[in-house]
Amino acid sequence: MNLRCWFHCINPECGAQYPIDQVIYRCSECGSLLEVAHDMAALRSRSAQEWRELFERRYKTAEWPYGSGVWGKKEWVCPALDNNNIVSMYEGGTNLFWAERLGHLIGLDDLWIKLCGNSHTGSFKDLGMTVLVSMVKQMIAGGADIRAVACASTGDTSAALAAYCACAGIPSVVLLPRGKISTAQLIQPIANGAITLCLDTDFDGCMAVVKELTKEKRIYLANSMNSLRIEGQKTVSIEIVQQFDWQVPDIVIIPGGNLGNVSALGGGFSMMYELGLIRKLPRIVCAQSAKANPLYRSYLTGFSRFEPMEAGKTLASAIQIGNPVSINKAIDALKKFNGIVEQASEDELANASAMADLTGLFNCPHTGVALAVALKLLKRGEIRPTDRVVVISTAHGLKFAGFKTEYHESRLPEVSSRYANQPLELPADVEQVKKALFERVEKTRDLEVNWNIWS
Ligand SMILES: *Cc1c(COP(=O)(O)O)cnc(C)c1O
Ligand SMILES: [Zn+2]
Repeated sequence: MNLRCWFHCINPECGAQYPIDQVIYRCSECGSLLEVAHDMAALRSRSAQEWRELFERRYKTAEWPYGSGVWGKKEWVCPALDNNNIVSMYEGGTNLFWAERLGHLIGLDDLWIKLCGNSHTGSFKDLGMTVLVSMVKQMIAGGADIRAVACASTGDTSAALAAYCACAGIPSVVLLPRGKISTAQLIQPIANGAITLCLDTDFDGCMAVVKELTKEKRIYLANSMNSLRIEGQKTVSIEIVQQFDWQVPDIVIIPGGNLGNVSALGGGFSMMYELGLIRKLPRIVCAQSAKANPLYRSYLTGFSRFEPMEAGKTLASAIQIGNPVSINKAIDALKKFNGIVEQASEDELANASAMADLTGLFNCPHTGVALAVALKLLKRGEIRPTDRVVVISTAHGLKFAGFKTEYHESRLPEVSSRYANQPLELPADVEQVKKALFERVEKTRDLEVNWNIWS
């Protein structure tokens, strides 16, 4: 099978094409974003059933690099890569589990959580970064003069870039908004040896600087406007469907910031649909923080208008973005997937996240945004109690220990911590421990949802 892929301008009136190994992020004809296009006719030479079997055979095997959730689908992701240039740490293959108790509590029979944060650097960003860094390795092997790979980040992109570059021995540069990311997220690129630049601005300010830096072609841009990342991230939807034995869920809810991931999710479903692996499409819901909600505002106008904004400070720091790069791609995807956009306040996201933890999760604030949105849509009847709903959990909660600590100490601004749990500090005396313990057990009631807080 002779498979090819190339960059394609997303503007239908332009349609310019560029080689996949060219250093280019926007169309040089019209300035639009690019997407990776695949030779669908060649891909059709395998039947839907053959693709399913191939993907299943490779899933989590030790056969390098196909055991990776991304590279198990290599032909659909980036067939142009030589296996020798692949930089992989077996990303993906993350657990999708039935959140039975949480679902029961809120009134959803069929609620599932896709734990994308259970990956190498603790977020879904690994899925895209393995593709991008592999391509850089291949370009360098082919003689391209690339000295470093750079990104602006709200904390997770930088962690993934630093790790994959360290794995490949390629220098990385990360630009972070000073004081706006968690301690764990800051120490990840530092530990991986990245050149770490903390700038006195927000994410959008870092993005503006990195765009200028990467006009110099020797510094390669790793933000998600680079559509190679989207190709890796789109394997999430394929993996979900595969984990459901090729059944399509009704609703997928995803927290959105720069909005690359919502289009990636759509891209995976579209490709499965076009190649006959699935026969229906899910509804996609994008969940935003009310402090950084430019897509939500656009949704309220039926997507007829869009205005970037200055993002306010939100606990969901990885989606604190006011001027999303992938806005047009996201709107296209939402239109195609009968999409919904909804927002969550600080109070809603923090309480949704805490409530979910009390059913056994340990989820990040962005997952909290998605869960709060699930509750709101259920309350409004836009999600039915019998719908199969998948919430995409985008990062590991352990990156956000500070958020959780402050929640349980009831110290978060604008949040009333309804599910706070405090440790009991006691002398090491059996009688006193017993007394305190039984008092506490007596007081422990069943977990309840206070529907009033979900407006
Ligand atoms: C990057 C990120 C998002 C948002 O993804 P976009 O593609 O920027 O919309 C959400 N949650 C977490 C934890 C992230 O790291
Ligand atoms: Zn163009």
